[in-house]
Amino acid sequence: MLPLFLLLYSAEEPSSAEETEIFVSAGVQRFQFKVSMGYDTMKNQSLTRRTVLTGMAVGLSAFVLPRLPWASAAADAPRVTPEQALQWLREGHARFLAGKSERPNLTPQRIAETFVGGQHPFATLISCSDSRVPVEHLFDRGIGDLFVIRVAGNVADVDEIGTAEYGAGHLHTPVILVLGHSKCGAVTAVVKGDSVGGSIPKLVDNIIPAAERAKAKGLSGDALVAEAIRENVQQSIRDLLAHSEELRHLEHAGKLKLVGAVYHIEDGSLEWLERT
Ligand SMILES: [Zn+2]
Repeated sequence: MLPLFLLLYSAEEPSSAEETEIFVSAGVQRFQFKVSMGYDTMKNQSLTRRTVLTGMAVGLSAFVLPRLPWASAAADAPRVTPEQALQWLREGHARFLAGKSERPNLTPQRIAETFVGGQHPFATLISCSDSRVPVEHLFDRGIGDLFVIRVAGNVADVDEIGTAEYGAGHLHTPVILVLGHSKCGAVTAVVKGDSVGGSIPKLVDNIIPAAERAKAKGLSGDALVAEAIRENVQQSIRDLLAHSEELRHLEHAGKLKLVGAVYHIEDGSLEWLERT
């Protein structure tokens, strides 16, 4: 009854669109639902293209999807291997870096299919909130592709670890990528011992061990900050594993790979790190 309710209740400006297609796909199967609607009919009933789309999507989720073979829990969805997920990340970044982004999965059809079919991202990322690190753009991905945690300094404290557990454990992403970036203000502040107030000290205290390890290498200036940024990525990976039995178990079972990289804001390149 819900879709019927939506169709009858909503009253917005009519759309001139005459035809809307909703694609619902999962795995190797793909179904197409086509709704034809004349403009006059739409106008008379004060219905919009979006209203009908929403009604159809809700109707599908309520009545059609449960009967389809892939409608069971996400746990039953075909698993992407860590290697495949990493390959997709590398390929997407290569397109971005070459100025050949395809900007996939940003269509109304993708909105509809992820609404009906749920999200099945192939990677969890912990990235800094820095506005020069727009994660989906960097990997040329769209809606429903990446499960992204953004926090200043890409630290892994309790909230980030819990969110990562949701991504890897519940959504079954086969990869967790901790993504640091050059010129990170949070890491730089800790390295330089800048005075910070409010809640920031509690946020950046996760970075202190990384800054100390970098200093122990006898570096200074920009080289020190750059090394602290790498060490901070390694620290977040260690924190994820140290405080999450679930993530340790998934990685030990070969279902999950934790990797680290540094994004260089000066030229768009990625520096993949060996775990230490
Ligand atoms: Zn940053």
